[in-house]
Amino acid sequence: MNPAASGPDAAAAPAAPRKRVLLAAPRGYCAGVDRAVVAVEKALEHYGAPVYVRKEIVHNRHVVDTLAARGAVFVDETDAVPEGARVVFSAHGVSPAVKEAAAARNLQTIDATCPLVTKVHKEAVRFAADDFDILLIGHDGHEEVEGTQGHAPEHIQVVNSPADADHVVVRDPERVMWISQTTLSVDETMETVRRLRERFPHLQDPPSDDICYATQNRQVAVKKLAPSCDVVITVGSANSSNSVRLVEVALDAGARASYRVDKAAEIDPAWLEGATTVGVTSGASVPEILVSDVLALLAEHGFGEVEEVRTATEDLMFSLPRELRADLKAAGAPTGRPRPEGRRSLSVQPV
Ligand code: SF4
Repeated sequence: MNPAASGPDAAAAPAAPRKRVLLAAPRGYCAGVDRAVVAVEKALEHYGAPVYVRKEIVHNRHVVDTLAARGAVFVDETDAVPEGARVVFSAHGVSPAVKEAAAARNLQTIDATCPLVTKVHKEAVRFAADDFDILLIGHDGHEEVEGTQGHAPEHIQVVNSPADADHVVVRDPERVMWISQTTLSVDETMETVRRLRERFPHLQDPPSDDICYATQNRQVAVKKLAPSCDVVITVGSANSSNSVRLVEVALDAGARASYRVDKAAEIDPAWLEGATTVGVTSGASVPEILVSDVLALLAEHGFGEVEEVRTATEDLMFSLPRELRADLKAAGAPTGRPRPEGRRSLSVQPV
């Protein structure tokens, strides 16, 4: 035995580095997603299966698979819904043309468009009526962008990125306004607006923020924890715009690495090698159960200590879609619901 290592003067073995998780709050379900998911659940309970849903009700694989197992049938377009059947429109919103197509097939519709998306639709309609050119900052092909564009197709053009701003052509530079998709990076959107304004100094802002409170809150929280993190893991699906933005925001804010996973099983243990602090957040369409699974897996790798980093508290709730509420009320069924599931159920210490 080496006496230097065994006597009272022996140097203490270096303490193992403290491993911890910084858990972003707010994270996960927003008010619009909660409303849309509960609308499908209540529709299934009240009317029975099948209930058709145009597009994914929200962009989360787990949510869609769970609802499908209960009897929801997801279709791409209303022409795949049998005549006269019931169909739910997703939280991302639809264009008037989709509503007309549904009416032409006598479909019974439940519109679960998030009220904050509807607000953007109304802005588009109002400024189109005043004959403005409307620059919609967003991702071409995203369902929300298609729905918004469909409200004023003659007046709206999509601006995908700051670089796109340099190529926009308008009819009258004095009558131009911008609106945006609700789930973008705040910083990148402001950069696009700055570049647009360089070209069109009279560019009008939307009457209020289009990037919604939930998107902004989740980005602020991840920005706060990212500089302290070796790795940030965002739980969310690949087609979830706000989840993908969180991955980018974490990296921009100073995380050494940033990954997105749909579920815990997708975490590569190699990401955790040498890490002492792991950040965790989740997109606005992600149920808390998926975050709990990630935390359990991280605990197995020594990251059992969890500190919550809270930057805002959310208590917004939207009432259920009007058509569904009316039917539930007529049947004497409850139209209320509990707060978004499990959002604050983890017992962790705020820092
Ligand atoms: S992310 Fe925002 S706009 Fe989208 S559903 Fe949630 S609250 Fe509504």
